[in-house]
Amino acid sequence: MRHSLSGIAASSGVAVAKAFVHEEPDFTIRNKTAEDAEKEGTRLEEALATSRDELSAIKQKALEELGEDKAEIFSAHLLVLSDPELVEAVKGKIKDDRATAEHALNEVADMFISMFENMDNEYMKERAADIRDVSRRVLGHLLGIEVVSLAAITEDTIIIANDLTPSDTAQLNPQVIKGFATNIGGRTSHSAIMSRSLEIPAVVGTKEATTTIKNGMTVIVDGIDGHVIVEPSNEELDQYKQKQADFQKQKEEWAKLVNKRTTTLDGQHVELAANIGTPNDLEGVINNGAEGIGLYRTEFLYMGRSELPSEEEQYQAYKEVVERMEGKPVVIRTLDIGGDKELPYLDLPEELNPFLGFRAIRLCLERQDIFRDQLRALLRASAHGNLKVMFPMIASLEELRQAKHLLDEERDKLESEGMNVSKDMEVGIMVEIPSTAVAAEQFAKEVDFFSIGTNDLIQYTMAADRMNERVSYLYQPYHPAILRLVDMVIKAAHAEGKWVGMCGEMAGDEVAIPLLLGLGLDEFSMSATSILPARSQLSGLSKAELARFAKDALNEDTADAVEQLVVDAYGSK
Ligand code: PEP
Ligand code: MG
Repeated sequence: MRHSLSGIAASSGVAVAKAFVHEEPDFTIRNKTAEDAEKEGTRLEEALATSRDELSAIKQKALEELGEDKAEIFSAHLLVLSDPELVEAVKGKIKDDRATAEHALNEVADMFISMFENMDNEYMKERAADIRDVSRRVLGHLLGIEVVSLAAITEDTIIIANDLTPSDTAQLNPQVIKGFATNIGGRTSHSAIMSRSLEIPAVVGTKEATTTIKNGMTVIVDGIDGHVIVEPSNEELDQYKQKQADFQKQKEEWAKLVNKRTTTLDGQHVELAANIGTPNDLEGVINNGAEGIGLYRTEFLYMGRSELPSEEEQYQAYKEVVERMEGKPVVIRTLDIGGDKELPYLDLPEELNPFLGFRAIRLCLERQDIFRDQLRALLRASAHGNLKVMFPMIASLEELRQAKHLLDEERDKLESEGMNVSKDMEVGIMVEIPSTAVAAEQFAKEVDFFSIGTNDLIQYTMAADRMNERVSYLYQPYHPAILRLVDMVIKAAHAEGKWVGMCGEMAGDEVAIPLLLGLGLDEFSMSATSILPARSQLSGLSKAELARFAKDALNEDTADAVEQLVVDAYGSK
């Protein structure tokens, strides 16, 4: 039946296709031991055979509909299924340890995955992803759950889900996945951030997408204005096709700015940088003409696997990023786990308020084994380019001092081991906790730079969970309180001769950009796809004029009043 849902526009663009409702299966293994090894062996053989049949069919379909390239991945999956080493190891566990087929498979697959992931070779790392996918398929059969791999979708599709995990989004093939809509999440939830790096139109936080949309329904995802139209009329379809065409034209205009410097109307240069989650995002960053990386979220290196990445593996990833950026600044943030980003293998106890809990720098200062490995990898990579280190979630000067102390200790160790380390690597912090913004004057004396993390700064200042769409009305980037905090941070840094960036989503927001320029922000770091629109907008703004304008904005009384002031003076929204 025709209906529409409203949500948060997470990634711009318009898409029309049939819906696929994705449900995350529960792979919890409850029975780990079995007496009858022979029976378990047969169950395993049957699950392998069914998976083989399924994969052959999917491969054939992919070959016909998507071409050889995409079908390749299923040939690789078939190879995994018949890999004697893997299959024999599972059988061995069933026999020797009296393990159930599912438990044995899970254990062996995890072992192979972490082995491949730790190899210093991209090809081998891809094998780890193949093993994960295949073992989930076989596990699904053993546990009696139907598992649909998102990577196996071969027709134009809109994914409908409660939320998508980073590993779900990593499987999406943008050639056929035209868009997605989720029940939960906000503009700054990680599925939203991923949708922008994949350049797939998305609407998040629609509350009831999975309950009102059924497989096969035609759906329009309007990632520009945050609407999802289900079973649209012909008239609506025409309207949205026009909107899609207009967006395409606009993108072509922006593309002309790729190799241009970002300069304001009054000739001031500001730096437009990109946020990335993995080295795979670099292509989009380079194609969109970023002047640097303002935030590399390293936690993705630690996620979707069963053990910590080694120092060497991290070193390779960081080195790849700084080298490919060819001397442009690359700000790498140390591990920021917690909140909506979990690491199951750390076995951390559940918390009532994970966003206020044991996360990021708090965890790193306690688990120094994890932190020191990362610091060493960063220091080693600093010899290969313009790397800057940034600590997340700093709330007190003691935390900053302790983190810097550990960094210095690891630097000394590396130097005494004869390793090459940059002499002048900058060290900065995220300003995302109100205490740090308020005390920015003190912090500014002990850092080289600040990067304002508004995604968290807003949620902590307004006491409104960034993931909870019920309180999203309080998630107000233009609230005068937020603007005043940003103003304080910039003034404090400039008084000490330090630079200030912003890597929260607010930095790429067209209403915020004039205000941030007026407040004197030096670097704006955003999703790669926001860079060209931002460059185009900044080229029409005068920094001197906006400095006066921003003062007026600070004196407005509500977020709406600020927004109105900007829209009246500078248009848009
Ligand atoms: C932020 O909090 O603004 C930020 C950039 O970090 P993350 O979104 O990873 O929490
Ligand atoms: Mg944050």
